[in-house]
Order: sequence, then structure tokens, then C-alpha cells
Amino acid sequence: MVKNIQAIRGMNDYFPEETAFWQRVEWILKDVLTRYSYNEIRLPIVERTSLFQRAIGEITDVVEKEMYTFINRNGDSLTLRPEGTAGCVRAGIERGFLYNQEQRFWYLGPMFRYERPQKGRYRQFYQIGAEVFGQQGPDVDAELILLTARWWRTLGIQDYVTLELNSIGSLEARARYCKALIAFFCQNKEFLDKDCLRRMYINPMRIFDTKNPNIQALLNEAPVLTDYLDDDSQAHFSDLCELLNLAGISYKINPRLIRGLDYYNRTVFEWVTMYLGSQGTICGGGRYDSLVEQLGGFATPAVGFAMGLERLILLVKAVNPNFATIACVDVYLVVRGSSIKHEAFQLAEQLRDALPSLRLMTNYGNDSFKKQFRRANKHGARIVLVLGESEVSAGQLIMKDLVTGNQEMLAKSDITARLASILD
Ligand code: ATP
Ligand code: MG
Repeated sequence: MVKNIQAIRGMNDYFPEETAFWQRVEWILKDVLTRYSYNEIRLPIVERTSLFQRAIGEITDVVEKEMYTFINRNGDSLTLRPEGTAGCVRAGIERGFLYNQEQRFWYLGPMFRYERPQKGRYRQFYQIGAEVFGQQGPDVDAELILLTARWWRTLGIQDYVTLELNSIGSLEARARYCKALIAFFCQNKEFLDKDCLRRMYINPMRIFDTKNPNIQALLNEAPVLTDYLDDDSQAHFSDLCELLNLAGISYKINPRLIRGLDYYNRTVFEWVTMYLGSQGTICGGGRYDSLVEQLGGFATPAVGFAMGLERLILLVKAVNPNFATIACVDVYLVVRGSSIKHEAFQLAEQLRDALPSLRLMTNYGNDSFKKQFRRANKHGARIVLVLGESEVSAGQLIMKDLVTGNQEMLAKSDITARLASILD
């Protein structure tokens, strides 16, 4: 026997039972984004590897361990995007969409990271994200948080997520902090593993991303970035907190929240849940005021976030398993004898013209009469229409209501009105 070809580990197939959830959730997310006047951008899935190295940072988990990188046929090193911000900034600079402008974008699409697959963590996963350019904040930082809070309310999960907030200050503040961190790690070298020792001098903050539990315990003793914040960042942060207080958004300040990508500054935030086990971060974001310049554009303040759709949908499903169901067929057209296939086609199209919201499925008469009815039931059809040679020649149709069991003979010219009155 020929061996089956299987999907790649960590890359999922989604069938209609699941895509029904995805569609309803995505519709709500997009609707809220539109109400805040954010517009969609669609960007390539593949970018130059150097883009992610420069934007995310060479010494990060994503760039060091998680990227899907390959050599193009022309010798260029390319990477399947692990996140959306770098590509957005690249495109914005290239097309002149960022400098001196007020832009609010959103995107949705697959991202790729070579991680250990588990619940809520996959190698191909979907993110929806928003990016705002040209706004210093903190009002727009608050706007993004309010937008996400509105998502949770609309999806009915507002009681299952909490907001964690921090400021990681300016580049200069972080440079001061890193000195203190290096001094701390030097004193505790014997507790560090090889990976952390390597990161210690080049990017000490990335030691916080370690998964090693012994080192995690040590990190609780490490200096805290908050103690090194510059005055401007401090003011920005307290203004943000005040705006959130005014809006009635509760949050927890988490001085240890720094996020795993190098481009952030000042505001960072995460929405977390206790209901998904260890993959509890649903959505994360923050400011990245230096990134546009770092990638070759003119200095432009920016802030954004990204949310993992799989984790969101797991939570929505856990809270409300009936949040979405597959839409059933309204009318199933049973065709008795394949000689009238042509008439069946015509009738189906006429009904679709007359009743635009009708969900109609046609069986082209290749199955037995009994089997066609079984199929109608399986698709959850409300009504079965039967078309046979005798009905065609008499200009009639049989209509059976599968809910009431009523069956009637109708003139072809009456069918639209009759269906409309039943399905209304
Ligand atoms: P984590 O701490 O869980 O690894 P992260 O900090 O790497 O997350 P970000 O890069 O900030 O995540 O991405 C934003 C969101 O994208 C996460 O909060 C999560 O919902 C989702 N996400 C990230 N990586 C994955 C993955 N491998 N599979 C599924 N969703 C993911
Ligand atoms: Mg990660």
C-alpha cells in the first residue's frame, strides 16, 4: 500500500465545524476594527531574513531558534514571517505610508515559528494585529487597549481575560538597566546555562525569556527595569494608566513584563487568561518608536499589538461552545432522474436570484431517491424540493417541510413566495 502523506507537525487543518468559529470570530474582530477606523493591509508571507534579524533582534528566541529560513533559488536568504510588525514597517517605508502621517492599519494572516507544538502553540498560527503610526501616545496606546477590551466584550470573554501593563522606558533607560543586569548576572554566573551566558553581555534582557526553571527563580531576584525608567517614560506611563482608569479598564502593573522582541519601548501590555493552561497570553503589544528609523525610514512613533487567533478561539469555545455552528442548508433540491439535470440547474439558479439569502444545495440525481433524502437530513435541510420528469412537464414541484412533515404540490411560479414565507 502507498504510504499516506501527512500534514507537517504543528500545522493544522481546519474543517467547517472549526471554520464556523473562525468566521464568526473574525467577522466580529474586523467589525470592531472598522468602528475604530483601522484599515486592512495585506503583506507577503515571505520576507528577507535580514528584515527580521534587524527588527526583532539577532539575540532573541524568535530569530535564533524559531524562524523558517530558506535559500531562494537566486541565493537570497528568505524567511516565512514569524510576526507581522516588521513586514508592515518595511512596506510602509517602501511605499511612503508612514512619515508625517496618521495611519491605523490591521492585518490578519498566518505566521510561522519553529516551536514545540502543544495546545495553543503551533508552527503555523494565525495572528490578527493592529499598528498605528505617527502618534506619540499615550492616548493612542489607550485606544488600542480599549479596542481590544471591546473585542472581549463583543465575544463574551471579558470576564476571562486580564490586562497586564508595564513601561520598559527609553533606549537610554534600558542601556542603564542592562549595565545593572550584567553586574547582577556576573555575580550569579554559576546559576546560568550556556544560552544565558552567551546572551549575558550582548543582550542581557533576553535572559528573561529562558524556559529553564532554575534560572527563572534567579530572575525574581534580578534588578527591575521600573527602577531605571526615564522621567518622560514615567510620565507617559502614568498618563496611560489615568486614561485607562477613566475608561474603567482594570489592569495589573507587572514590572517584570518586558516582551520577547527587541523593538519595544515605553508601553508594553499583554492580555492573559488562566483558562488555557501555560499558553495563557492571548494578545500582546506595545510601542516601538525606534523601529521605523532602525529599518531605514524617518523617525516615526508607532504602537501596535498582535493576537493569536487559535488561542482566542480556544477561549471563546471554552466559554461558549455554542458560539458558532455550521450554517445548515435551507433547501435541498432532490432530482429524480438525471435526464432533468438541466432543469434542476435552472431552477436552482432562479431560486438563488430570487432569494439571495437562501442556502440551497442540489443533488444532481446521481443518488437514489431515498439516499437523496438521507443526505438532505444530514445537511440539516429545512425543506426538500423534488423535481422529476412528471413535475417538469406539469410545471410543478413537490415541496416537503422536513420540520413539520407537510408535503405539498406547488406550481413552479409559486415556489419563491412559498419558500420565502416558510424560511422568513
Ligand atoms: P509566547 O510567550 O506564548 O511564546 P510570544 O510573546 O512569543 O508568545 P508574540 O510574539 O507577542 O508572542 O505574539 C502575539 C501572540 O501571538 C501571542 O500572544 C499568542 O497569542 C500568539 N502566538 C505566538 N506564538 C504562537 C504560536 N507558536 N502558536 C500560536 N499562537 C502564537
Ligand atoms: Mg514565543
